[in-house]
Amino acid sequence: FMQGSEGHPPVIFALASGLSRAAIAVMRLSGQGAGSIVESLCGCLPAARRASLRGLWRRDGAEPVLLDRALVLWFPGPDSYTGEDSAELHLHAGPAVINAVADALVALDARPAEPGEFSRRAFMHGRMDLMQAEGIADLIEAETEAQRQQALAQVDGAQSQLYQRWADRLRTLLAHQEALIDFPDEELPPEVEQQLCNGLQELHATMQAYLTEGEGAERLRRGLVFAIVGEPNVGKSSLLNALAGRDAAIVSSRAGTTRDAIEVRMVMGDVPVTLVDTAGLRETEDEIEAEGVRRSLFHVKQADCVVQVFAGNPVPPRLDGADVLVCNKTDLHPAPTGAIGVSVLTNAGMDVLRTALADKARALTAGRAVAPFTRARHRAAIEETVRHIGQALSMPWPEMRGEEMRLAMRALGRLTGAVDVEALLDTVFGQFCIGK
Ligand code: GDP
Ligand code: ZN
Repeated sequence: FMQGSEGHPPVIFALASGLSRAAIAVMRLSGQGAGSIVESLCGCLPAARRASLRGLWRRDGAEPVLLDRALVLWFPGPDSYTGEDSAELHLHAGPAVINAVADALVALDARPAEPGEFSRRAFMHGRMDLMQAEGIADLIEAETEAQRQQALAQVDGAQSQLYQRWADRLRTLLAHQEALIDFPDEELPPEVEQQLCNGLQELHATMQAYLTEGEGAERLRRGLVFAIVGEPNVGKSSLLNALAGRDAAIVSSRAGTTRDAIEVRMVMGDVPVTLVDTAGLRETEDEIEAEGVRRSLFHVKQADCVVQVFAGNPVPPRLDGADVLVCNKTDLHPAPTGAIGVSVLTNAGMDVLRTALADKARALTAGRAVAPFTRARHRAAIEETVRHIGQALSMPWPEMRGEEMRLAMRALGRLTGAVDVEALLDTVFGQFCIGK
């Protein structure tokens, strides 16, 4: 924290409502001293946690100037979002009103908030852990119902509780481990060491299973990439346009027209999917097209699902990594078995293809884990924990086992922010929008 004048972090403020034009703009402030700022603006502090209609005045000139009439909410700490004294000013959303109030706040020694700074303060004051803070960021970004539910479960602490249970288990095992070291062999029953190793093994297996079952949730949070690949002129661009329902890609009857990958974001099976139309995949001398081919190969590698398109006869060899085979132009040739036959021209088969792609999107984002991890950061921390437990299990000497167990606990603690987080905070909260 930057220290304010009285040794407290300064009062911060930011618009908490969306930036698009709306009737009301919610200006939020937080920090020790928020109370006296509200008092200065309104003349007196309104009742806590109740909406009060007040004139907002700037009083540092010769005459007080009325800035707006606004609903004012006063949330004394620690029972506020940030845990600090906080307030919300529900302003008329005109840019001039917002600017005038922001200027008045700066004159009262408040400063604009950094992205995620409100949530960061909430974390620092123990109002939420890191997993929950990330859940809030995801909830703000959620575009589909499935994403909303997943983010809300995270805000409610689904993952936090699971990781806490694992950390408790590790702590208990570590206590047994320390007992092993403190007491000479003769004094401890031999089964203590066996129980310890069994416990570690069990935890290791549980966490490893969680890692393999949890991948879908991470994909759901970030959205999927589906690459459309195939020879030039088979109708990839036409297909993308038909799926997207608008003219997103250039369609031309000359082979090799689509040189760059063109992306369209849409929702399939309640999952955000970016459809990428790639340039024709074939050997080429043409330099620009060669670049397109390189990019399309890149997209194929990155894609969660590769949709290979061909047109009638001959049936090309199935591309390495192709997940869905689509035969286009069935108005001219029948589709071979094993491919989904469509005609973009007549719309035949398009519903079957849409359903197949939606099923694919749902399957890729489904997970059996109860409270799945949702970010690469989580996966990395759990993998690190698993690695250290694995190393602890392979240690011949109890002393070295203990050190690995402590490292495992540390990695797990970083997930919720219980330990060692300073370096993480900028990354986690820097991704938030301003005003959260
Ligand atoms: P791309 O090179 O694979 O992207 O192919 P395009 O989408 O540019 O389409 C190539 C040509 O095939 C265009 O003239 C399209 O109008 C035509 N085409 C696309 N879909 C169909 C279809 O279902 N039937 C027929 N007969 N022609 C199609
Ligand atoms: Zn094309």
